[in-house]
Amino acid sequence: MKFLAFSQESMMTFRSLLTLPVTCAMFCGCVSSNRNVDKLSSADAAPAAASMAADVDSARMADADKESGSWMSHGRTYSEQRFSPLKKVSKDNVGKLGLAWTYKLDVDRATEATPIVVDGVMYVSGAFSIVSALDPVTGKELWKYDPKVPRDKDRDGCCDVANRGVAVWKGKVYFGAYDGRLIALDAKSGARAWEVDTVVDRTRSYTITGAPRIIKGKVIIGNGGAEFGVRGYVTAYDTENGKKLWRFFTVPGDPTQSAEGKAMEIALPTWKGEQWWKFGGGGTVWDSMAYDPELDLLYIGVGNGSIWNRHIRSPGGGANLFLSSIVALRPDSGEYVWHYQTTPGDTWDYTATQHIILADLKIGEGVRKVLMQAPKNGFFYVIDRVTGELLSAEKFAPANWASHVDMKTGRPVENPEADWKTKPALVSPGPLGAHNWQPMSYNPQTGLVYIPMQEAAALFVPDPTQTYSGKGNWHMGTQPIAFPENPKEFQGIVDLHKGHLVAWDPIAQKEVWRQSYVTVWNGGTLSTAGSLVFQGTADGRFVAYSAEKGEKLWETRANTGVMAGPITYEIKGEQYVSVAAGWGGAFPVILGGLSEPAKVRPEARVLTYKLGGMATLPPPNDAPTTLPEPPALKADDETVARGRSIYNGHCGMCHGPNAIAGSVLPDLRYLTAEKHRIFAGILAGAYASQGMPAMMDVLTLEDVEAVHQYLVKRSHDLKSQLSTLPMQGSSVGK
Ligand code: CA
Repeated sequence: MKFLAFSQESMMTFRSLLTLPVTCAMFCGCVSSNRNVDKLSSADAAPAAASMAADVDSARMADADKESGSWMSHGRTYSEQRFSPLKKVSKDNVGKLGLAWTYKLDVDRATEATPIVVDGVMYVSGAFSIVSALDPVTGKELWKYDPKVPRDKDRDGCCDVANRGVAVWKGKVYFGAYDGRLIALDAKSGARAWEVDTVVDRTRSYTITGAPRIIKGKVIIGNGGAEFGVRGYVTAYDTENGKKLWRFFTVPGDPTQSAEGKAMEIALPTWKGEQWWKFGGGGTVWDSMAYDPELDLLYIGVGNGSIWNRHIRSPGGGANLFLSSIVALRPDSGEYVWHYQTTPGDTWDYTATQHIILADLKIGEGVRKVLMQAPKNGFFYVIDRVTGELLSAEKFAPANWASHVDMKTGRPVENPEADWKTKPALVSPGPLGAHNWQPMSYNPQTGLVYIPMQEAAALFVPDPTQTYSGKGNWHMGTQPIAFPENPKEFQGIVDLHKGHLVAWDPIAQKEVWRQSYVTVWNGGTLSTAGSLVFQGTADGRFVAYSAEKGEKLWETRANTGVMAGPITYEIKGEQYVSVAAGWGGAFPVILGGLSEPAKVRPEARVLTYKLGGMATLPPPNDAPTTLPEPPALKADDETVARGRSIYNGHCGMCHGPNAIAGSVLPDLRYLTAEKHRIFAGILAGAYASQGMPAMMDVLTLEDVEAVHQYLVKRSHDLKSQLSTLPMQGSSVGK
């Protein structure tokens, strides 16, 4: 496996790290860990004083809150609050933040990772699961590991080839590759220590985009794929050798086989008919987890149904456990403890995989140990994390699918109009969610949760003809998205998409302040003891607000959409704020032209700031693309209409509905003469190694020609549109 050779300088930096623990051992009497030093001197200790790289273990994680200079796990601590006690950068001086360094990630696609910084090294992942180790002071690359995910594997996932980050434990770095492998690397060298296949069925479209979590020497990972027909689960592996220790399925399998334990005995009666397990059932655990060491409970967020349409998936109804649920498990055994289902019988892609935060809140007379989640469905949930009891649930965003949550039953009261059983329904939130994977944060000093909220309703159109159609194919029981082609009507839908940063009081269950943006898909948030909230934006900025009132105190250009969760860390007395910037994911890929207001390209970079930082950001790569002269349109209207339908069903999920792409993947109205000539070859797999998968398992040659003619028609549409504008060309497409 490939990893880059050390440069002389980075080797020296590394050697100097390796020599430090001798001093540490002599000073504090601990040979195997630097944790005592860090406790003694808090953030002022140089985190580089480690006996080995990524020397994280249970004791150190238990005290993670005190080790203020580090960001040792995905949500900084097991409670996943994403709150840092660092305050050298504060609301009084944040205006002096400047770039300390930038690091270019390899692939300009969805950049969603939260970096880890510990023992003087930053570990960050980019698109196609490529992992880099960096000097967090200079950004210098120490090593890089490319797991060589096949580039046409893209077709097996819904939402771009993202990776949300790595985990570290006792000298190793762990991450999920997009193709479903779990890989452990030596933290010092980047060499592979072990690799396992987490996929139970290679005939199905399983992917991994989420960050692993590590509890007591077990690395825990879920997967994605519910839009394509999979059965969800989480698995725990031994951090030392990759041995599988337990697996928890989130939905039942073939009911003719014996039930797999207590949880499946609870779940099985909540499913009806026999279609569900053929479609996979869904319930993938593709992002959020949290852990309470005192209660010894692991909390997992479970995803949507497969297929979406519950009337096909489970005719006759049923809650369909554990879809759209938070499930508490014993991390040693995977044993089920309790669950709370946010959307019983989900039919709208309402995952409960969104960020889970643990906190102790004053509720009523006493302090309750709670779990908080703002999932896609638009309700903010406060749950007793000991028992799973619902404490409160209120809408934090517009939501028309349910009027409220009945506190007696703990269940939502559904709006019958939102159930798209026999006729289309415009439902809010849509599948993008009122809040998606972009992490929120909780500041215990203000008591507020900072949510990247969005308004994105969607039209669900029932399609009862859908059956499971094989690996790499979307099937949700709804017709594919087909927005109007008319630019004015299209703009009307664009304008319905709004993004906000919402500061939410979880005890009062009400909004305290908000900031609004030009569109949805803004970044995750970071809270700090400097009374600050940091957030990147879809339109290419990185911003700091005051935590109490939401006043904008600082902003800088990022030259790309910023979606990922920012972090902060301290080294040798200097506080840094860092974010993995880069555009992509479900919004610009699946919804294409709807993301146009963001006006950004996917330039993937780690951007790190400090007070007085003077580094410069490379200029954006925004050279306009000229529309090539399209060939003459030969086909009749009927063929073009058929081409549109096939395009939107099979191509639009990546290249944008109606052939209007976001800026991530090619806009097919801009095909060159050469690509027009070899169009059928491209769909047969000619560009597979560059990421364009072969499609001939689902398309006939006649289909291909119809799609081609539709694209020719759309090129002509664009040409006449552009001719009415003052300037030719567009910054979108390639
Ligand atoms: Ca989904």
